[in-house]
Amino acid sequence: MLRQIESIITPPDHHWVGDGLKVQNFIPSKIPWERISPFVMLDYGPKNNFPPSEVPKGVGSHPHRGFETVTIVYKGRLEHNDSRGNSGIIGEGEVQWMTAGSGILHKEYHEKNFSKSGGELQMVQLWVNLPAKDKMTEPKYQALTKNEIVRLELQNEAGTAQIIAGEFNGQKGPAFTFSPVNLVNLHLKPNSETDILIPKDFNASILVLEGEVEINGEKVVENKMALLKNDGNEEVVIKAKKNSILLIISGQPLNEPIASYGPFLMNSREEIIQAMEDFENGKFGELE
Ligand code: MN
Repeated sequence: MLRQIESIITPPDHHWVGDGLKVQNFIPSKIPWERISPFVMLDYGPKNNFPPSEVPKGVGSHPHRGFETVTIVYKGRLEHNDSRGNSGIIGEGEVQWMTAGSGILHKEYHEKNFSKSGGELQMVQLWVNLPAKDKMTEPKYQALTKNEIVRLELQNEAGTAQIIAGEFNGQKGPAFTFSPVNLVNLHLKPNSETDILIPKDFNASILVLEGEVEINGEKVVENKMALLKNDGNEEVVIKAKKNSILLIISGQPLNEPIASYGPFLMNSREEIIQAMEDFENGKFGELE
Protein backbone atom coordinates (compact mmCIF):
# COMPACT_ATOMS: atom_id res chain seq x y z
CA MET A 1 0.00 0.00 0.00
CA LEU A 2 1.18 3.49 -0.84
CA ARG A 3 1.38 6.35 1.60
CA GLN A 4 -1.26 8.71 0.25
CA ILE A 5 -1.49 12.49 0.01
CA GLU A 6 -3.62 14.09 2.72
CA SER A 7 -3.71 17.57 1.20
CA ILE A 8 -1.92 19.77 -1.30
CA ILE A 9 -0.86 23.06 0.22
CA THR A 10 -1.05 26.28 -1.79
CA PRO A 11 0.86 29.01 0.05
CA PRO A 12 -0.63 32.44 0.73
CA ASP A 13 0.78 35.45 -1.18
CA HIS A 14 4.48 36.09 -0.68
CA HIS A 15 5.82 38.16 2.17
CA TRP A 16 9.21 39.79 2.72
CA VAL A 17 11.69 38.84 5.42
CA GLY A 18 13.54 42.14 5.81
CA ASP A 19 14.18 43.45 2.30
CA GLY A 20 16.21 40.45 1.14
CA LEU A 21 14.04 37.35 1.21
CA LYS A 22 10.81 37.18 -0.80
CA VAL A 23 9.13 34.04 0.49
CA GLN A 24 5.92 32.06 0.64
CA ASN A 25 4.88 30.31 3.82
CA PHE A 26 4.11 26.56 3.56
CA ILE A 27 4.43 25.58 7.24
CA PRO A 28 2.45 25.96 9.38
CA SER A 29 0.10 27.44 6.77
CA LYS A 30 -3.12 25.56 7.59
CA ILE A 31 -1.41 22.45 8.90
CA PRO A 32 -2.02 21.63 12.59
CA TRP A 33 1.16 21.54 14.75
CA GLU A 34 0.82 17.84 15.51
CA ARG A 35 0.67 16.95 11.80
CA ILE A 36 3.90 18.71 10.98
CA SER A 37 5.99 18.38 14.18
CA PRO A 38 9.00 18.55 14.64
CA PHE A 39 8.87 21.23 11.92
CA VAL A 40 7.28 24.53 12.83
CA MET A 41 7.93 26.88 9.91
CA LEU A 42 8.88 26.63 6.27
CA ASP A 43 9.32 29.65 4.05
CA TYR A 44 10.22 29.07 0.42
CA GLY A 45 11.68 31.83 -1.74
CA PRO A 46 11.21 30.78 -5.40
CA LYS A 47 13.73 32.16 -7.94
CA ASN A 48 13.69 35.91 -7.65
CA ASN A 49 15.99 38.25 -9.53
CA PHE A 50 17.61 40.96 -7.45
CA PRO A 51 19.19 43.97 -9.18
CA PRO A 52 22.77 44.86 -8.15
CA SER A 53 22.98 46.62 -4.79
CA GLU A 54 26.00 48.10 -2.99
CA VAL A 55 24.20 47.62 0.32
CA PRO A 56 23.41 43.92 0.87
CA LYS A 57 19.70 43.30 1.35
CA GLY A 58 18.51 41.09 4.15
CA VAL A 59 17.22 41.03 7.68
CA GLY A 60 18.96 42.79 10.58
CA SER A 61 19.79 41.59 14.08
CA HIS A 62 17.02 39.47 15.65
CA PRO A 63 16.83 36.77 18.34
CA HIS A 64 15.91 33.07 18.32
CA ARG A 65 15.47 30.60 21.19
CA GLY A 66 14.23 27.01 21.51
CA PHE A 67 14.60 25.66 17.97
CA GLU A 68 16.84 25.35 14.92
CA THR A 69 16.85 27.31 11.66
CA VAL A 70 17.87 25.43 8.52
CA THR A 71 18.71 27.56 5.48
CA ILE A 72 19.04 25.82 2.11
CA VAL A 73 20.34 27.87 -0.81
CA TYR A 74 19.47 26.62 -4.32
CA LYS A 75 20.51 29.76 -6.24
CA GLY A 76 22.50 32.80 -5.15
CA ARG A 77 24.53 33.30 -1.97
CA LEU A 78 23.60 34.30 1.57
CA GLU A 79 25.77 35.48 4.44
CA HIS A 80 25.18 35.55 8.17
CA ASN A 81 26.73 36.64 11.41
CA ASP A 82 25.74 36.38 15.04
CA SER A 83 26.16 37.62 18.60
CA ARG A 84 28.80 34.95 19.32
CA GLY A 85 31.12 36.25 16.64
CA ASN A 86 30.38 33.52 14.11
CA SER A 87 29.93 34.33 10.45
CA GLY A 88 29.77 32.43 7.19
CA ILE A 89 28.54 32.19 3.64
CA ILE A 90 25.92 29.78 2.31
CA GLY A 91 26.55 29.12 -1.38
CA GLU A 92 24.52 27.25 -4.02
CA GLY A 93 23.75 23.71 -2.96
CA GLU A 94 24.82 24.45 0.62
CA VAL A 95 22.97 24.37 3.92
CA GLN A 96 23.35 26.18 7.20
CA TRP A 97 21.91 24.37 10.20
CA MET A 98 21.79 26.77 13.14
CA THR A 99 20.84 25.55 16.58
CA ALA A 100 19.50 28.66 18.33
CA GLY A 101 19.09 26.64 21.55
CA SER A 102 19.33 28.86 24.66
CA GLY A 103 19.44 32.00 22.52
CA ILE A 104 21.31 33.86 19.85
CA LEU A 105 21.05 37.08 17.85
CA HIS A 106 21.82 36.89 14.15
CA LYS A 107 21.56 38.71 10.82
CA GLU A 108 20.85 37.13 7.44
CA TYR A 109 21.96 38.95 4.30
CA HIS A 110 22.77 38.59 0.63
CA GLU A 111 26.49 37.77 0.36
CA LYS A 112 28.52 40.92 -0.51
CA ASN A 113 29.64 39.96 -4.02
CA PHE A 114 26.29 38.41 -4.92
CA SER A 115 24.68 41.66 -3.80
CA LYS A 116 27.07 43.75 -5.92
CA SER A 117 26.50 41.72 -9.08
CA GLY A 118 22.82 40.98 -8.41
CA GLY A 119 21.19 37.77 -9.61
CA GLU A 120 18.75 35.04 -8.84
CA LEU A 121 18.09 33.90 -5.30
CA GLN A 122 16.21 30.70 -4.51
CA MET A 123 16.16 29.42 -0.95
CA VAL A 124 14.28 27.62 1.80
CA GLN A 125 14.23 28.35 5.50
CA LEU A 126 12.92 25.57 7.69
CA TRP A 127 12.51 25.78 11.47
CA VAL A 128 12.95 22.53 13.37
CA ASN A 129 11.67 22.39 16.93
CA LEU A 130 13.94 21.15 19.71
CA PRO A 131 12.80 18.52 22.21
CA ALA A 132 11.99 20.11 25.62
CA LYS A 133 15.16 18.67 27.16
CA ASP A 134 17.36 20.30 24.49
CA LYS A 135 15.71 23.72 24.17
CA MET A 136 18.42 25.42 26.26
CA THR A 137 21.34 23.66 24.57
CA GLU A 138 24.38 25.78 23.60
CA PRO A 139 23.83 27.58 20.29
CA LYS A 140 25.86 26.11 17.42
CA TYR A 141 26.21 25.95 13.65
CA GLN A 142 26.63 23.22 11.14
CA ALA A 143 27.86 24.61 7.84
CA LEU A 144 27.06 21.83 5.39
CA THR A 145 29.02 22.34 2.20
CA LYS A 146 28.39 20.65 -1.15
CA ASN A 147 31.07 18.04 -0.43
CA GLU A 148 29.56 17.09 2.91
CA ILE A 149 26.00 16.67 1.67
CA VAL A 150 25.68 13.04 0.63
CA ARG A 151 24.80 12.65 -3.03
CA LEU A 152 23.52 9.44 -4.52
CA GLU A 153 22.20 8.30 -7.87
CA LEU A 154 18.62 7.04 -7.93
CA GLN A 155 17.72 3.71 -9.54
CA ASN A 156 16.91 3.57 -13.25
CA GLU A 157 18.72 6.88 -13.81
CA ALA A 158 15.77 8.75 -12.35
CA GLY A 159 18.04 11.48 -11.02
CA THR A 160 19.95 12.23 -7.84
CA ALA A 161 19.27 12.61 -4.14
CA GLN A 162 21.11 14.93 -1.78
CA ILE A 163 20.84 13.80 1.81
CA ILE A 164 21.10 16.74 4.21
CA ALA A 165 19.95 14.99 7.38
CA GLY A 166 18.84 11.54 8.45
CA GLU A 167 18.58 8.53 6.22
CA PHE A 168 17.59 7.86 2.63
CA ASN A 169 18.02 4.59 0.71
CA GLY A 170 20.24 3.25 3.48
CA GLN A 171 22.67 6.19 3.42
CA LYS A 172 23.05 8.89 6.06
CA GLY A 173 23.28 12.66 5.68
CA PRO A 174 25.77 14.82 7.59
CA ALA A 175 23.56 17.00 9.82
CA PHE A 176 23.39 16.26 13.53
CA THR A 177 19.77 16.45 14.69
CA PHE A 178 18.28 16.38 18.20
CA SER A 179 15.32 14.22 17.15
CA PRO A 180 14.90 11.92 14.12
CA VAL A 181 14.65 14.07 10.97
CA ASN A 182 15.13 13.12 7.31
CA LEU A 183 15.77 16.01 4.96
CA VAL A 184 16.48 15.18 1.31
CA ASN A 185 16.55 17.03 -2.00
CA LEU A 186 15.57 15.09 -5.11
CA HIS A 187 16.60 16.25 -8.58
CA LEU A 188 14.49 14.21 -10.98
CA LYS A 189 14.82 13.79 -14.74
CA PRO A 190 11.90 14.15 -17.16
CA ASN A 191 9.69 11.04 -17.48
CA SER A 192 11.42 9.32 -14.58
CA GLU A 193 9.90 7.27 -11.81
CA THR A 194 11.29 6.74 -8.35
CA ASP A 195 10.09 4.91 -5.26
CA ILE A 196 10.91 6.30 -1.86
CA LEU A 197 10.33 5.05 1.67
CA ILE A 198 9.44 7.37 4.55
CA PRO A 199 9.23 5.87 8.06
CA LYS A 200 5.56 5.38 8.91
CA ASP A 201 5.85 7.06 12.33
CA PHE A 202 7.25 10.27 10.74
CA ASN A 203 5.19 13.27 9.71
CA ALA A 204 6.04 13.92 6.08
CA SER A 205 5.59 16.41 3.29
CA ILE A 206 7.05 16.98 -0.16
CA LEU A 207 7.69 20.49 -1.48
CA VAL A 208 7.84 20.81 -5.27
CA LEU A 209 10.29 23.65 -5.94
CA GLU A 210 10.52 23.18 -9.68
CA GLY A 211 8.88 21.05 -12.34
CA GLU A 212 5.85 18.85 -12.09
CA VAL A 213 5.36 15.42 -10.55
CA GLU A 214 2.77 12.80 -9.81
CA ILE A 215 2.87 11.58 -6.24
CA ASN A 216 1.09 8.21 -6.10
CA GLY A 217 -0.76 9.23 -9.25
CA GLU A 218 -1.82 12.64 -7.97
CA LYS A 219 -0.48 15.68 -9.82
CA VAL A 220 1.56 18.18 -7.80
CA VAL A 221 2.91 21.22 -9.62
CA GLU A 222 5.68 23.68 -8.93
CA ASN A 223 5.34 25.80 -5.80
CA LYS A 224 2.93 23.41 -4.05
CA MET A 225 3.53 21.09 -1.11
CA ALA A 226 1.97 17.68 -0.55
CA LEU A 227 1.29 16.75 3.06
CA LEU A 228 1.29 12.96 3.31
CA LYS A 229 -1.13 10.91 5.37
CA ASN A 230 0.02 9.04 8.46
CA ASP A 231 -1.79 5.93 7.24
CA GLY A 232 0.72 3.31 8.36
CA ASN A 233 2.34 3.06 4.93
CA GLU A 234 5.92 3.92 3.96
CA GLU A 235 6.13 3.79 0.20
CA VAL A 236 5.67 6.80 -2.09
CA VAL A 237 5.90 6.62 -5.90
CA ILE A 238 7.04 9.81 -7.61
CA LYS A 239 6.82 10.28 -11.38
CA ALA A 240 8.48 13.40 -12.78
CA LYS A 241 6.97 14.89 -15.93
CA LYS A 242 9.85 17.34 -16.44
CA ASN A 243 13.10 18.24 -14.69
CA SER A 244 11.92 18.58 -11.11
CA ILE A 245 13.41 19.60 -7.77
CA LEU A 246 11.72 18.32 -4.61
CA LEU A 247 12.46 18.76 -0.93
CA ILE A 248 11.34 15.83 1.18
CA ILE A 249 10.73 16.84 4.76
CA SER A 250 10.02 14.19 7.36
CA GLY A 251 10.55 13.64 11.05
CA GLN A 252 9.31 11.95 14.17
CA PRO A 253 6.71 14.14 15.93
CA LEU A 254 7.83 15.49 19.32
CA ASN A 255 4.40 15.26 21.00
CA GLU A 256 5.22 18.05 23.45
CA PRO A 257 3.25 21.23 24.20
CA ILE A 258 4.10 24.30 22.12
CA ALA A 259 4.25 27.90 23.27
CA SER A 260 5.24 30.19 20.45
CA TYR A 261 5.81 33.92 20.32
CA GLY A 262 7.61 35.50 17.35
CA PRO A 263 11.20 34.25 17.35
CA PHE A 264 10.82 32.18 20.54
CA LEU A 265 9.49 28.63 20.60
CA MET A 266 9.14 26.97 23.98
CA ASN A 267 6.85 24.53 25.80
CA SER A 268 5.05 26.91 28.20
CA ARG A 269 3.96 30.52 28.55
CA GLU A 270 6.34 30.93 31.52
CA GLU A 271 9.27 29.93 29.32
CA ILE A 272 8.22 32.48 26.69
CA ILE A 273 8.08 35.24 29.32
CA GLN A 274 11.54 34.14 30.52
CA ALA A 275 12.85 34.27 26.94
CA MET A 276 11.53 37.83 26.49
CA GLU A 277 13.09 38.89 29.81
CA ASP A 278 16.42 37.31 28.95
CA PHE A 279 16.38 39.00 25.54
CA GLU A 280 15.55 42.40 27.13
CA ASN A 281 18.35 41.89 29.64
CA GLY A 282 20.95 41.26 26.94
CA LYS A 283 21.45 37.57 27.72
CA PHE A 284 21.43 36.69 24.01
CA GLY A 285 24.57 38.80 23.56
CA GLU A 286 24.99 41.85 21.35
CA LEU A 287 24.83 42.32 17.63
CA GLU A 288 24.56 45.67 15.85
MN1 MN B 1 16.62 34.31 11.80
